[in-house]
Amino acid sequence: MQVPAHVEYERASSVAHALSLLARYGPEARILAGGHSLIPMMKLRLAQPETLIDINGLSELSYIEMTGGELRIGTLTRHAQLLDSAAAGEHFPILHDAEKVIADPVVRNWGTVGGSLCQADPSEDLSAAFAALKASMVICGPDGSRTVSAREFHTGPYETVIAAGEMLTEIRIPARPGGGSAYEKVGRRVGDWPVGAAGAAIWLDGDVVADAGIGLTAVGAHQFAAPEAEEFLRGAPATEESFARAGEIAAEHCRPASDQRGPADYKRHLAHELTARALRRALRRARGG
Ligand SMILES: Cc1cc2nc3c(=O)[nH]c(=O)nc-3n(C[C@H](O)[C@H](O)[C@H](O)COP(=O)(O)OP(=O)(O)OC[C@H]3O[C@@H](n4cnc5c(N)ncnc54)[C@H](O)[C@@H]3O)c2cc1C
Repeated sequence: MQVPAHVEYERASSVAHALSLLARYGPEARILAGGHSLIPMMKLRLAQPETLIDINGLSELSYIEMTGGELRIGTLTRHAQLLDSAAAGEHFPILHDAEKVIADPVVRNWGTVGGSLCQADPSEDLSAAFAALKASMVICGPDGSRTVSAREFHTGPYETVIAAGEMLTEIRIPARPGGGSAYEKVGRRVGDWPVGAAGAAIWLDGDVVADAGIGLTAVGAHQFAAPEAEEFLRGAPATEESFARAGEIAAEHCRPASDQRGPADYKRHLAHELTARALRRALRRARGG
């Protein structure tokens, strides 16, 4: 039987209370959101926090709203809420593409957007989607809040810039005109983690790519992004040839590892092919298709 080590439990009643509990219990305290990642890790004793600070009562951290030209998503928003959100689907269809293929309804009903990002699993789907969208993350701590870009948020596998005493509260995505986005994933079976996946966001100026965002997951891409491929696309014609070359560049710069999900060469192939496919679909959407 898998049994977690002894742990203290506190239920936060507000963000300020959660922060005061983090300060009181120190670096061995952990936030408990949906628990879909943390609790299994505790059962396997891969994580042994001394105190869990449960934020599930903080309804003020559960929202999706368009404000000031940005989509703002509270950290406690469940995957299922994001999948149901008309505003998210209208402005950033990549988020619905990704949510449709994350786990199963049970995980999506309770797992949270913020928990997914903070878990920082190198195969996390939303990390790639938010990297493609050039989102930013709002982190609150004892000295107030700070905002970091999605590209700075993850510092390595299972690591983020969130320091002891801090917590993620919100994700922000700027809504820009002329944009389209899409997500493509290959998994071994329905509801499984990706063997490889790519997200693309594209902003057009006529038939030219004004800007592009490419997110990759499970293929060893630094910060879940492909900046060299984005740079190639900026100012390039929005054509099949450009997208194929961007896919090649993205694949050249990632560092996939062979594991039970597949060999490194296959994952590199997926990075190439799925980047091109996501760009193609993002273009159709940017053109209103
Ligand atoms: C069977 C199964 C299948 C899955 N399949 C997929 C998949 O296909 N694709 C995919 O991308 N994911 C998949 N997942 C992962 C799932 O999306 C995440 O486990 C889950 O959503 C994490 O969110 P949570 O709310 O459960 O986080 P928790 O488990 O509560 O927390 C995870 C970590 O984040 C920290 N944390 C949480 N919230 C905050 C915060 N606000 N501030 C600071 N730290 C915080 C916690 O302390 C903990 O360290 C799967 C999970 C399961 C169990």
